[in-house]
Amino acid sequence: MKKDVQEMVDRGEMLPLMEEFYTIQGEGFHKGTAAYFIRVGGCDVGCHWCDVKESWNAEIHPPTLTSEIVENARKYSDTIVVTGGEPLTWDMGPLTNRLKANGLNVHIETSGAYPLTGTWDWICLSPKKMKLPTDEVYAKANELKVIVYNKDDFRFAEEQAAKVGDACILYLQPEWSKRDKVVPLIVDYVMANPKWKVSLQTHKYLNIP
Ligand code: SF4
Repeated sequence: MKKDVQEMVDRGEMLPLMEEFYTIQGEGFHKGTAAYFIRVGGCDVGCHWCDVKESWNAEIHPPTLTSEIVENARKYSDTIVVTGGEPLTWDMGPLTNRLKANGLNVHIETSGAYPLTGTWDWICLSPKKMKLPTDEVYAKANELKVIVYNKDDFRFAEEQAAKVGDACILYLQPEWSKRDKVVPLIVDYVMANPKWKVSLQTHKYLNIP
């Protein structure tokens, strides 16, 4: 990467853009809401069941000016979801400042593994065992979404729920490939522990991105 491009990426003025698309938010609190998704490349958290492994290597995704990303996004929706990869790999300040300056609602989907940058209207924290979230992300999360792959994830979910604020909404979401096995466990768990809610990847049932 050229030095000047690298410097702009380091400042968050450019981001490795993997894809962007207008769709329906399928998961969590805002499920069913039309939103424009900005998927930023780069993640070293390493979830073995990750369904966007193509996002991991930032170098294969073109560094793109945040001004261009915002100019495009604002044509589609008032609600913008920044996802990855792990968006907090990068300085989210310039992107979110521009999105906010256009009056847009700005959401993030993050593992919380890196320091919180940017200004957010909604923080969806989906913590991962391999790289736990920073204290600031726990404190500011609006929803906690724990992916359930096996029974140990219920223990992990409770551990994580103890670290977020009282107003944070708690979700258990089946890992897609294990959904047949895990959904009945989640249903029983939520009925026994009603502070939790079920989240499903409804976009996959709707066959949309
Ligand atoms: S944090 Fe997200 S993008 Fe990164 S490996 Fe895990 S599921 Fe994939």
